[in-house]
Amino acid sequence: MNPHGGPRVNPVNPLEQALHAARALVLADLVAREVADADVVSLVEESVAQRRWWVQQWPEGVEFIAGLVAQDVQDALLERYGRWPLCPVCGSGDPHALDVEPELGPDPHWVCHKAGVKVAAVGELGGAGGGAASS
Ligand SMILES: [Zn+2]
Repeated sequence: MNPHGGPRVNPVNPLEQALHAARALVLADLVAREVADADVVSLVEESVAQRRWWVQQWPEGVEFIAGLVAQDVQDALLERYGRWPLCPVCGSGDPHALDVEPELGPDPHWVCHKAGVKVAAVGELGGAGGGAASS
């Protein structure tokens, strides 16, 4: 490391990078579950805008952005569309949504509390439990 290095222009600041990454991860999950229409994308944009404000107040929260955006979008979808993302693990019983865990922490995952399993990292729902697999 070089603590005395000259001023370095950072083309993308870490906050914007985190927001961009969170947006991409949540959109990937929406696409994986085929709910990424224009309305839904605007929900993501709305959440990212709110979280930009939030993390400016609390910069240490930058690592938590992806999990928070996922939860914002999940809440917004519940009002407009219904439960998302539906659990791909439990084959029977009532359809239920996955939860983000940790609610406020780095490295967020989708978990099924009913089965007690981690299903996928946020952003990787497309690779969990079939989806693209043909049967
Ligand atoms: Zn489940």
